[in-house]
Formats: sequence, structure tokens, C-alpha cells
Amino acid sequence: MNKTQADLLAYMRTLHTFDSHEHLIPETERLQNRMDFTVFLQMYVKGDLLSAGMPADHCQKMLHDSQLSEDQRFALLEPYLPLLSQSSTYRAARIALRDIYGFDGIDRGNYQAIGQALRAANKPGLYRHILKDRCHLGHIINQKVLINDEGGLFHCNAHIGFYHGPTLDEMHARFAEQQVDCRISDLESFDAALQNLFATWRRKNILALKMGVREMNIPSRKQTDQILRTMTTTGRVPPDHADSLAVYVMDFFLNQARQHGYVMAVHTGPMAAGGDFRTISPCHLMPWAARYPDVKFDMYHMGIPYARQAGFVAKYYPNVTANLCWAHVVAPQVVVNALDEWLDFLPVNKIIAFGGDYSGCVEKVYGALEMARANLAQVMTRRIARADLDLQEAKSILRKVLVDNGRQLYRLQ
Ligand SMILES: [Zn+2]
Repeated sequence: MNKTQADLLAYMRTLHTFDSHEHLIPETERLQNRMDFTVFLQMYVKGDLLSAGMPADHCQKMLHDSQLSEDQRFALLEPYLPLLSQSSTYRAARIALRDIYGFDGIDRGNYQAIGQALRAANKPGLYRHILKDRCHLGHIINQKVLINDEGGLFHCNAHIGFYHGPTLDEMHARFAEQQVDCRISDLESFDAALQNLFATWRRKNILALKMGVREMNIPSRKQTDQILRTMTTTGRVPPDHADSLAVYVMDFFLNQARQHGYVMAVHTGPMAAGGDFRTISPCHLMPWAARYPDVKFDMYHMGIPYARQAGFVAKYYPNVTANLCWAHVVAPQVVVNALDEWLDFLPVNKIIAFGGDYSGCVEKVYGALEMARANLAQVMTRRIARADLDLQEAKSILRKVLVDNGRQLYRLQ
């Protein structure tokens, strides 16, 4: 690491970084969970293990079967550990293990000690300790199905994507989960349920809404009414109309966002569980951004692997911000290369640089943050070496993308 990079890293560590996106479970739930080395493998390392060829049932057993001993869990992991040596998802875990608990990765000699250290640290106040004392985070936006601000630690956003089927029973269950009592039989009753849901979220002080991008195809109200009436007899969304109902819900909430000034966060690109990322390309955001020019869209995850395209989506739509949450862990060198390109054509107020996107392992937020800082330092060092900017301007941009832009978009002090 050269002196410029070290200087930039030191500067970034003084900032109260805006954390735009997490899925952290309630701390009380974390404190009750079984603690061992597998806590560090959940979410995205799991994806790399499956990709490497670990049988899904072995992975499932290693992470979740309460009958297995710690030794048996490690035996399942051990053959795959060498394959993870370069994995960026595992790197976030390693950084957290090293800096928070003093372990150099997970191995045969330390996995039991990792479990002991985790159990010792699993006490009330863990979240504040990691997120505030370790990470020095400022505002944190968390997204869970059940909204919980963790005693004022989090702002919350609400995902609009669970209220369109596939069966009528499941739809009712999702509304009931949010304490919205409804009986959906036609468009009128569906609109009333969605209105109630939004009112419930507003009472819970949500900061923003969240959707997954998809191709736009606005259904007519008449057609939506027909779909809902059909559901009352068949019990499920007609297969050829699954998208229509989902898009109707998105359209409904985008109108609420417009009316009440809520930011719409948008998942684009990679998925934790894999799947067809072509259907959630950031390019699908363009017609939405055009249809709702007065709604602010926070486009997540750099649209990876369509990072270059995502940059141009943000450039051409003043109402779209490009958010690097999770991207630092998904594909760090893609972030470095693409962000270096973006800065040539994307104004620096259009970028929000951090969100960890973690759920059960709060420690990995720290790992992801350190990776984000390292990526940003690499980009700025390249640009300083090319004389595109100097150290002072680099710091000024880092402050914007790590702190100010997020606060401004979400109207937070
Ligand atoms: Zn997420």
C-alpha cells in the first residue's frame, strides 16, 4: 500500500459512513442464535460454497442442523476451504474475524476458539459496539419483513414485493404479517388492503420503500380486477398474469412514493441465491424512472454484472442514484474498475458508496466496510496517479459518496 492509499484509508475511517442497506435481524434474535464459525458463512459465503460444488443438503446441515456438533460442521466445510482463498465474500468474513476476534480466517486449529469468542461476545449491545464503535457508521438503513428500528439504531425501509401472490392465501398471510386485516376479492378490496399496508408502514416511520426491478408492463385496472376475481375461485394468480399483478403493486407504491416523497430503493443485478440476473438488469429501471420522473430511485448493487450500463442509467436519469451497496463484496475489482469509469461521466452527487447487505452476522458489516474503503482508495489512487484530481479533491469526493449524498437523498441530517 502506498502513502496516498494509506492517507485515504485513514481519512475514510474518520467519517461517519452512511450505511444505505442492511437486513440485520433483531439483536435479541442474534443473541439467541447458535454461535459458532458457521455464523461467518451464512448469506454470501454460502453461495460460493454451493458454486464450488458443496452439496446443497450438506451446506444446509452445516449451517442449520442443530443435531450436528461443531466438529461435524467443520468436517463438512474443510474440503472447500482452500477453494475460498480468493473469494471476496469470504474476505469480508476474514477481515471481520481478524480485526474483531483476532483470527486469521477459519481453519482446523481455530474453529472451536472462534465459536468460544463469538459466544463470549454475543451480549446485549453487540450491534451498537460493532456498528458504532467499530464501524463508526452514521445513519443505517435496515430492511426486514417486520419493521424494527432497534431502539433508534436503524432507519427502516419496507419491501413492496410480497403482496401479489402466488396464492390468495399467501397474499392474505403477508398482509396479516404486517397487521393488515383484509379479504381480497376484487380491485377495490385489493386497493384498500394496499392503502392500509402503506398507512401501517407510515405509522412505523419507514424511511423508504424497496422494490426489485423488472420489466415494465402496466396492467389496466380492468384487467387487474379480472385477475383478482379469478383468484377468488382458483385461489392463485393465473400463471400468465403473475407479472401483471406484481407490476400493479409496484405502480401503486410508486404513486404513493410520488405523493408522499418517499425514495424507492431498487434491487438490480446480482442475487444472493443465484438466478437469472438478465431479468433484473439495471436497464429495466429506465422506463420506470421515465414514468415517475418525480420519484427518486436509489439503484442498488451497481447492477453487477451490468455495472457499466448501471452507470449510464444513473447518468441519463436525474432521479436515479447509483448505489454500491453489497457490490464491494460481490465483485470488488468490478467496483474498482467500474467506479473509475463512472467518475468520468457520472456527477459525484449521484453515487452512494456503502451498504453491507448483511443479515445474521453484524461483524461482516465491518468486513464489507473495510473492503469498500479499500476499493475507494484504489480508485482515488489511480485517478491521483493520472492527475485527474489531487488528494484534497479525492477526500472531498469520498466524503460526498460515503456520507453526504446518502443523507441528502434520504433527507437526513
Ligand atoms: Zn438487500
